[in-house]
Amino acid sequence: MCRHVAWLGAPRTLAELLLEPEHGLLRQSWEPRRQAHGTVNADGWGVGWYSPARPEPARWRSSRPVWAEASLASVAPHVASGCVLAAVRSATVGMPGDESACAPFARGRWMLSHNGVVDRAVLPAEAWPAAESVCDSAVLAAHLLAAPEELAERIAAAGAADPAARLNVLATDGERLLATAWGDTLSVLRTPDGVVLASEPFDDDPAWCDVPDRTLVTVTPDGVELTRLEAP
Ligand code: GLN
Repeated sequence: MCRHVAWLGAPRTLAELLLEPEHGLLRQSWEPRRQAHGTVNADGWGVGWYSPARPEPARWRSSRPVWAEASLASVAPHVASGCVLAAVRSATVGMPGDESACAPFARGRWMLSHNGVVDRAVLPAEAWPAAESVCDSAVLAAHLLAAPEELAERIAAAGAADPAARLNVLATDGERLLATAWGDTLSVLRTPDGVVLASEPFDDDPAWCDVPDRTLVTVTPDGVELTRLEAP
């Protein structure tokens, strides 16, 4: 089970979001606090963010552990964005190890990260040609980003078809965040200038709230909405 985090709000640097929080994604790569599946997240990492220059996100992904990414500490304080999505990976047995299997996956303006596991056999064959990797998360991302407006229904359908699946995803088009809690932890932090969604709190701020399982979270500049995910 990997760990992921997203921000929507006033511009923040990658350092502020990922490296500086005491229990941020960097620390979570070797010492997550709420991870139920796997112990360390050393099988790669990735971050995507938006800039006014173009609608598609920039992405930086790597198969190294994030703590071994020697240039990140110098670059991260220089990159600021109002919408960021990042992940550290603990690869599922049998999945490829190269960076194309690391989140965030992308399609057009959208990008997506998956914490969990899903039987690829329950995903439609049409998803495969668009997948960036044969990794289950990449095929799931291709399936979900083919119709982002159906994300909630597609998660619930995949969960019904594969009862062992864990389907926590984080997706964004730069203007809103969509997240699901389905089998793993998810927390939300509302701040005066934006919202954080994360697999687990990155600090001990009492304002963090746990999201109930089987919930869709939608974050827009207007606020945060939680909707129950119903099995079809
Ligand atoms: N199944 C995905 C992979 O192999 C995600 C794993 C996870 O969430 N740890 O990368």
